[in-house]
Amino acid sequence: MTSLLPADGARLLIGGKLVEGGDGVFATINPATEEALGQAANANAADLDAAVTAARTAFDQTDWSRDHAFRAHCLEQLRTALQSHIEELRELTIAEAGAPAMFTRGPQLEGPVADLAYSASLAETYSWETDLGVAEPMGIKTRRVLRREPVGVVGAITPWNFPHQITFAKLGPALAAGNTVVFKPAPDTPWCAAAVGAILAEETDIPAGVVNIVTSADHGLGAQLTEHPLVDLISFTGSTQTGRAVMRGAATTLKKAFLELGGKSAFIVLDDANIAGACAVAAFSVCVHAGQGCAITTRLLVPRAAYDEAVQAAAATIAGIKPGNPAESRTVCGPLISERQRARVERYLDIARSEGGRIVVGGGRPKNQERGFFIEPTLIADVPNTATVAREEIFGPVLVVIPHDGDDDAIRLANDSPYGLSGSVWGTDPDRIRRVTNGVRTGTLSVNGGVWYSADAPFGGYKQSGIGREMGVAGFEEYLETKLIATAG
Ligand code: NAD
Repeated sequence: MTSLLPADGARLLIGGKLVEGGDGVFATINPATEEALGQAANANAADLDAAVTAARTAFDQTDWSRDHAFRAHCLEQLRTALQSHIEELRELTIAEAGAPAMFTRGPQLEGPVADLAYSASLAETYSWETDLGVAEPMGIKTRRVLRREPVGVVGAITPWNFPHQITFAKLGPALAAGNTVVFKPAPDTPWCAAAVGAILAEETDIPAGVVNIVTSADHGLGAQLTEHPLVDLISFTGSTQTGRAVMRGAATTLKKAFLELGGKSAFIVLDDANIAGACAVAAFSVCVHAGQGCAITTRLLVPRAAYDEAVQAAAATIAGIKPGNPAESRTVCGPLISERQRARVERYLDIARSEGGRIVVGGGRPKNQERGFFIEPTLIADVPNTATVAREEIFGPVLVVIPHDGDDDAIRLANDSPYGLSGSVWGTDPDRIRRVTNGVRTGTLSVNGGVWYSADAPFGGYKQSGIGREMGVAGFEEYLETKLIATAG
């Protein structure tokens, strides 16, 4: 379907070469049709090892880590090359990730490609060296200089839901900082990664071994990368459960693990907000990309006195959003990524029913879609915040609506979660909004529809939603070490 990838199977990128997988190929599936799109290279443990060795060699034996201007040039070149292939990448992303076309104009593709410019500029403008001045610790006159240096070899492990956003949010800063990278994408979206690999290898000056891309059907390669003694840092995005395994694996060699994990974020409507308007926004948001977003606000907390009005408004919006072909320009809700993911969402809908929840709208597979892993957007009412569907991440278009008894209770409910990724607050009184935004323990918060997503704004989680921040200067500094040089005299 794309000239970027060979018809007989996409390739790995190892040591600057596009190569076949040691374990042959595996199929990549179009989730909207259930048909195989084609083949991807299936890397094995030896391929992963070769990729790490190539990254290590490129870090240790080239000037990549020291030549800031060259890295900025390479990142700009990569951005331009990706932009020249944007329509092929769009088609591929829609087909492989089931991403609705409209979102490929923003965070699914064009946004993160454009954001490589931010990483490129950081490579050139960042203060790599800071003079701490002269001091006399222990009576010895000393000039102290603080240097920031790349960590070394970065292992990047990603999920499938926003393949390009997460890829470039890792590759951009990791490369700008001077690291080399072994990138292991999710088995569900190997072509999105392989296409980036082909462009990077053939259309940029990025030296051999600086970026290595290892697609595989085997999750075990993620564990191998995590435990590999030649890897210095793991940058992981995925589920909280896998995040725990990554942290344990990283402990074997005591490497830093930077984790972007799951969420169960709250959408808080205060009693001075436009209740129906706010609830319609919450309902729309949960349908975007079939709810497959870590930061989507899946718990709607509304004033108890306005509960019925809130349920009605959310239900009306959800009922109006029909899951459909992601290639169509007006589709908001495409398919789930896989049969496995749909079974997971359906299991949660069963649990909601068995725990006494009321399915107000949705709750099953759409009648008009015979093929594809589609599920109806669903609103669940009459469950407490302790219900399984209010606590666990479903990763589908499912919204739970829960009443609160005022601002403090809304803060309590929002925080009564193992997660702390994102959230939204709607109201009119600035003092009350400030109190609520102070009280909610999450990494990002939107107020009245404000957008926290941008290249210069850090993103990440409190509690079991993660450790560290992606994007912004904070995200860039995750990829740096700190060295202090103390010179006597
Ligand atoms: P997942 O955790 O199943 O897999 C993520 C990646 O980890 C894949 O590449 C997988 O092959 C790899 N992996 C699996 N086992 C591993 C192990 N033991 N060691 C190392 N790597 C291993 O997640 P998923 O189902 O692909 O994606 C959905 C999850 O990702 C959701 O929980 C979602 O919230 C989360 N997510 C978080 C963010 C964020 O920025 N916080 C963004 C997007 C998605």
